Amino acid sequence: CIRDRITTIVNQRNQLETVFSSMVEAVIAVDPEERIISINDATAQLFGIERQGTQGRLVQEAIRNIELQQQIERILSTGKPFEDEIVLEDNGSGDTYLHTNVVPMYGGNAEMLGALVVLNDVTRLRKLETVRSEFVANVSHELRTPITSIRGYVETLLDGALDEREDAEKFLHIVLRQSEQLEEIIDDLLALSRIEREAKDSQIDLEQMPLKSILEDAAEICRPKAEEIGVEIVVDCPDYLELDLNSTLFEQALVNLLHNGITYSEAGQEVVLTAAMMETGGKPKVRISVKDSGIGITREHLPRLFERFYRSDRARSRKEGGTGLGLAIVKHIVQAHGGTVEVESAVGKGSTFHIILNS
Ligand code: ADP
Repeated sequence: CIRDRITTIVNQRNQLETVFSSMVEAVIAVDPEERIISINDATAQLFGIERQGTQGRLVQEAIRNIELQQQIERILSTGKPFEDEIVLEDNGSGDTYLHTNVVPMYGGNAEMLGALVVLNDVTRLRKLETVRSEFVANVSHELRTPITSIRGYVETLLDGALDEREDAEKFLHIVLRQSEQLEEIIDDLLALSRIEREAKDSQIDLEQMPLKSILEDAAEICRPKAEEIGVEIVVDCPDYLELDLNSTLFEQALVNLLHNGITYSEAGQEVVLTAAMMETGGKPKVRISVKDSGIGITREHLPRLFERFYRSDRARSRKEGGTGLGLAIVKHIVQAHGGTVEVESAVGKGSTFHIILNS
């Protein structure tokens, strides 16, 4: 009967309405006069407007956005579907990039009923692209530095320096050192991408083990370098602490931190590696710290220190054969263990790096 059919139609309408309003994509339907037929909640949220009362209003009045308006004008005059982009200016957390799909709507008798704009927020994707292209630029730059130097010295050798035995030997040592530097950058990059990939696929095996032995092994690995500089490594860790760790990776993270602590210290100073339970009130946590009394880091550098290739003292890092990747590796390893890293530092007083893990 007619009542059942009406109920069915109303139900269908409600279903469609629910689908429309729960879509993640922002959708705008307009008539040929650029008046809004309908917008969904996502659209209202995106443009910071109220959905109520938009129906029947001109698009450019309800949603003040020039690019959107131009795209609607274009579809209504050409009737040809297209894709484009809209950038919403910084609203405190950076620009928002929207990908738009603009299509005409046709009625049964082929007349144009208006147009449909579907907007997708592609900001995250955009940011990833930027990060990636910056990364490629950084890698190229970092690789070029040693290559330029190697090439320069080899050319000098070929130009005659080869005949001066003493010069030749000096230059060849530089070439050797620079090629080692190249190798180190590549090894670190490969290590980083491997850790990243394995962490993403949850392939990193964690095994419960006593923390103290790992701390001591890491210290042992770094002792020759410490002795060379005249720095002492001190380890302080209670015997009872046990954590779920990937010992190879975690040892690598500690070695990187110790290595930095030693590098940026002076003869006679100590680098102290400690571990202790933390008083957090919440979940029990363990804090592993590497503390030095070396040159320290100025405040402005601290927030970016764990980024790939970021160096607070470029000249010194290079001189020490640093790759600028050590701390990025530390961060990735710690994240793969579900933990966090922090740094405190004061210029001239020293730095402390903390790894915080759930116990
Ligand atoms: P690098 O290979 O250059 O040491 P890292 O990623 O390990 O790269 O460290 C990044 C930068 O942070 C270093 O270049 C250095 O400027 C600074 N840094 C790291 N650890 C310390 C520290 N213990 N004391 C002072 N500066 C440090």
